[in-house]
Amino acid sequence: MKQLPYNIILIVIDALRTENLSCYGYKKPTSPTIDSLARNGVIFENAYCCINHTDPSLTSMFTGRFPVSHGIAHHGTDVTEEEMKQFYSSGSVSIAQILKQFGYHTFAVSWLYRWHKRGFDFYGDSEKEIGLNKSIRPVSFIKSNKIRSIARKIFENVPFSLQNSFFFITKLFGVSKGIINAESMTNTALTLIKQLKKQDKFFLNIHYTDAHLPFDTIPKKYKQMFRPDKKGGKTASLLKRISNNHQLMQFTKNDLKGIKYSGEIESCYNAGIRYVDDEIKRLILDLKKNNIFDKTIFIITGDHGDNFLREGLFLSHFGLYEQVTHVPLILSGPGLPKRKKIKGFVQHTDMLPTVLELLGIDLAPYDFDGKNLLPLIKEENKSWPFAITMDGATEWRFALRTKKFKYILSPLNNDPCCKYGIGARDVEELYDLEKDPLENNNIAKTKKDIATEHKKILINWLEEMKDRKSKRRKNQKTVSIPPEEVYTKEEEEKLKEKLRNLGYID
Ligand SMILES: [Zn+2]
Repeated sequence: MKQLPYNIILIVIDALRTENLSCYGYKKPTSPTIDSLARNGVIFENAYCCINHTDPSLTSMFTGRFPVSHGIAHHGTDVTEEEMKQFYSSGSVSIAQILKQFGYHTFAVSWLYRWHKRGFDFYGDSEKEIGLNKSIRPVSFIKSNKIRSIARKIFENVPFSLQNSFFFITKLFGVSKGIINAESMTNTALTLIKQLKKQDKFFLNIHYTDAHLPFDTIPKKYKQMFRPDKKGGKTASLLKRISNNHQLMQFTKNDLKGIKYSGEIESCYNAGIRYVDDEIKRLILDLKKNNIFDKTIFIITGDHGDNFLREGLFLSHFGLYEQVTHVPLILSGPGLPKRKKIKGFVQHTDMLPTVLELLGIDLAPYDFDGKNLLPLIKEENKSWPFAITMDGATEWRFALRTKKFKYILSPLNNDPCCKYGIGARDVEELYDLEKDPLENNNIAKTKKDIATEHKKILINWLEEMKDRKSKRRKNQKTVSIPPEEVYTKEEEEKLKEKLRNLGYID
């Protein structure tokens, strides 16, 4: 197989809903740059995430495997040591590890660290970390939690732009709070690319978080571009409606701290997408100026969507309804056709085998759950007959999406694996998506035959995945967690700050 010297840029926009992108039919101009990549490439109209939370979703993109195969099912501080052990003994290899073997420079402008770092030459979200990445490990000389918490409170009241300017000081105190905004992340990416020689190939992943609540990294001018259609009710009254669910209440309260009226939620979200879109444009212009663009393949996707004002699931990405599971997926660049729309089901697990095939790298040595999508793009074969998404808030809830229906199988409410008890209406749910696209009328009890048929497909799939997992296990020795892929104290503190900022923890 002849290898092709293309670069790969994988852009993940956190919480990116398909329905808010103009290339997927949205009426507002949220995504002119992404639209032009889609026009010059392939747009997948029915792409689904494998799980509804960030850590495991990115793990599926990077390894080409479903969470039931790679072992990570939760996000952030909820990931257990057992999951980590499962991951390291699953034999999963990441896109960065593979491409590094083929001579690629590998960069991630991201903040998830731990196992995600595997195979990357650079992993971090700020330009200032480029110098720090290998030489100085960030210092956190203040050991007292009390002093750190006071320092954090002070820094929380400093405008975000200033926090970025005083990044090094905040880092010294171990209180670097924030989500790094899209502009800084793009700068980091551009600095990394500039260091390369003309003939160097690179794989770059950028994980933008500006379109995820609480929207406090979005510059004012973008918020002014997207005014709410309706002011809506006060967000404080939304909180009263979910006051019986402490976990969701805390999450939502944190997220809504800067938003007074419900109408502002979607307009701020649109502003966040447009801000990131403009940053992608800046990245592209720079690549064009340096004659890199024409040999670069772009992949644009979201790790999951968002429920917005869906009753009972306000502003979370719990649950397995379409707003959360249906994600954008665009592939654009050399080796790909232009103006191509694909209707068949595809999933994040398919991205890695497709990228390798595009680069002329033999797939035979690897064992992915996903498949190479190039024959589907060329209309030489069919897509998957269905898509399956897992809920990362429980240990065991799955959605099966077929052409006409959505079937969701949940644990019983008193099942110990049902961690938060939110996101499901009953043990079985069935929706006719042609008649009921918003999934409001559960017909599992009235259309029992269809529900049973779907349950059978889902259970068979789970059995097949289980078999595959045990076969892989046989060939795999138990592997311990590499110390360099466990959080450093500083990385853990940084992640907690970000999760606090995004509303996930108190
Ligand atoms: Zn996410």
